[in-house]
Amino acid sequence: MTAKLAHFVGRVEAALGDGADEATVLAAVRSAMSELVADDDWLPEAAAQPHPVHYQQFLLHKDPAARFSVVSFVWGPGQKTPIHDHTVWGVIGMLRGSELSQGFAKSADGMTPEGQIERLQPGDVVAVSPAIGDIHQVCNAFDDKVSISIHAYGADIGQVRRHVFDPVTGVAKEFVSGYSGVAAGARP
Ligand code: FE
Repeated sequence: MTAKLAHFVGRVEAALGDGADEATVLAAVRSAMSELVADDDWLPEAAAQPHPVHYQQFLLHKDPAARFSVVSFVWGPGQKTPIHDHTVWGVIGMLRGSELSQGFAKSADGMTPEGQIERLQPGDVVAVSPAIGDIHQVCNAFDDKVSISIHAYGADIGQVRRHVFDPVTGVAKEFVSGYSGVAAGARP
C-alpha cells in the first residue's frame, strides 16, 4: 500500500476507534479524504484501469473487521451508474477528471431529482449516508476521457446488499456490487 493511502487508512481507523457518532466520523473521514485526493501521484496503475463497457471499482483496502473499505472508482468516457443507494456512510473524493452527481428522493411518482447536480473537480469531497441523503446517480462528466474518484464506505461495500431504483417506477432492486477484477468469494 502506498504511504499516502496507508496514512488515510490510519486516519479512518483513528476516527472509528472510539465509537464516535456518524457525523463525527464523517467529518474526520472527509478531512482525511481531502488530504488523500490533494495529490494525484499515489494510485497504483492497476487500480486506475477503465473498462470499455462499464465503470470499475477496485478494492484498495478492506478493514480487517470490515468496519470500512476504500475503493477507486474508474469511469470510462461517458459511463454512469444507475440510481442507487449505499445503506452505509460513504465519502467520495475526486482524484482525476470530473464526475456529476444528482441526488434523488423516492416518492409515489417514482424517483424525483433532489437538489442541484453536483460537479466534482479534483480535490473536491462529498458524503452520502442514510442520514444525510443516500440515493444518487453519478456519471463521468467527460465523454472523451477517464475520471477517477476515491470512495471510503462504512462497511465492506463489495458485500453490502443495497439497491438500484427504476427511474420511472421507483421500484427498488437489490444488488451487491462486489469489486472489479476479484471473483466473488476470493476477495482479499
Ligand atoms: Fe454512489
